[in-house]
Amino acid sequence: MSTTADSDQAVEQLGIEVSDSPFSLELSDDQREIRDWVHGFAEKEIRPHASEWDEREETPWPIIGEAAKIGLYGFEALAQFWSDPSGLTMPIVNEELFWGDAGIGMSIFGTTLAVAGIYASGTPEQMMEFVPQCYGTPEDPKVASFCVSEPDAGSDVSALRTTAKHDEASDEWVINGQKAWATNGGIADVHVIVASVDRELGSRGHAGFVVPPGTKGIEQGAKVKKHGIRASHTADVHLDDCRIPGSCLLGGKEKLDERLARAREGKRAKTQAAMKTFEVSRPTVGSQAIGIARAAYEYALDYAKERVQFGRPIIENQAIAFALADMKMEIDAARLLVWRASWMGRNNKQFDNAEGSMSKLKAGEVAVWVTERAIQILGGNGYTREFPVERMHRDAKIYTIFEGTSEIQRLVIARAISGHHIR
Ligand SMILES: Cc1cc2nc3c(=O)[nH]c(=O)nc-3n(C[C@H](O)[C@H](O)[C@H](O)COP(=O)(O)OP(=O)(O)OC[C@H]3O[C@@H](n4cnc5c(N)ncnc54)[C@H](O)[C@@H]3O)c2cc1C
Repeated sequence: MSTTADSDQAVEQLGIEVSDSPFSLELSDDQREIRDWVHGFAEKEIRPHASEWDEREETPWPIIGEAAKIGLYGFEALAQFWSDPSGLTMPIVNEELFWGDAGIGMSIFGTTLAVAGIYASGTPEQMMEFVPQCYGTPEDPKVASFCVSEPDAGSDVSALRTTAKHDEASDEWVINGQKAWATNGGIADVHVIVASVDRELGSRGHAGFVVPPGTKGIEQGAKVKKHGIRASHTADVHLDDCRIPGSCLLGGKEKLDERLARAREGKRAKTQAAMKTFEVSRPTVGSQAIGIARAAYEYALDYAKERVQFGRPIIENQAIAFALADMKMEIDAARLLVWRASWMGRNNKQFDNAEGSMSKLKAGEVAVWVTERAIQILGGNGYTREFPVERMHRDAKIYTIFEGTSEIQRLVIARAISGHHIR
């Protein structure tokens, strides 16, 4: 068998200088340590309670509190995960957390959506002021909500009807409208609201606003009863003459006025910047789907080794063993796409082929497929609430819908690779 030393020697004989490879898929000690720490939390504090919170359909505040206490939920934790220059720590943490349970995982990580919204367009001062408020303190943890979608504006974000009007006299913004399907909507301390300041400009007339804790004129509408991720709170949010200080406009008024002037003059939008924000966040969402898929695969693998039919464990049938082989292969393939896109995002690489969208699309579809296969491998048991793969399948389905449906991801990829405005 040839060794690395043999191949290094062969390369040297060709006159090529041998150096330490800059490419490696081996995790660093730090990454392994964080992965094992989050895995331990998921195993001890999340998994045993997953079914209970799924049935209760309530935010698991005690578990968020535990995560905050050990430093897994909070601004510092997020900064630590994000600071890894390889970009891999963020997806690794998400995979482990959602391996524990996706509904509870979303309750812990949903705040990050709002934080990402502040990070995408806020000034450094706004980040310093509002991001810690999104999390609260370990003694009194809070959650935040990112509200873009509306009843008539889901995939078509340009159709937003929520308006924000500037009151020059008081330098306040007055927001009116209805947001739909907001994760943590109404129970959040901080709501980040995307509203239209000039409807004629479509999505170019949108701006992001922080509605700070205790603001009047914002309230929760109907809470949504869902198919999956039921421990994560989802609700409509109503904004009725909701007044916020001028300083809550993300990025500031000067920048907004410049952007609107460009749009009114018909100048090209800096679409690359908006596109990049999504491309950077999508692999993290993909890693959550991988966590669910891996949990279902592992459960089905163990079950197939134990369950005896026709006098032998069911795994000894190729039909079952090959299904598990395919499940493992698809999960690993999806993870590689997620890791590539995470590395690209962290290292400011151009997403020429919408690699972020690719990773979320693949991971979401793999999670739905793998969890369905897991149910099949468990047979009747798989279809009952006594076994967790049924819940995992319900949880997985959201990953082909939110943060851009599978169809929208394909649209983004198709446009990126073709340069054509595919509809
Ligand atoms: C549990 C949950 C949590 C959510 N959390 C949040 C949140 O925190 N904040 C937030 O702002 N939103 C949130 N959403 C909303 C979510 O992002 C939207 O549901 C999603 O973007 C799809 O929009 P829609 O439901 O209106 O579907 P629609 O846009 O009505 O789409 C319906 C179908 O048509 C397809 N379709 C639409 N347009 C095209 C096209 N051009 N080409 C091909 N197919 C197309 C879609 O792919 C889909 O299959 C959440 C939703 C859910 C269910």
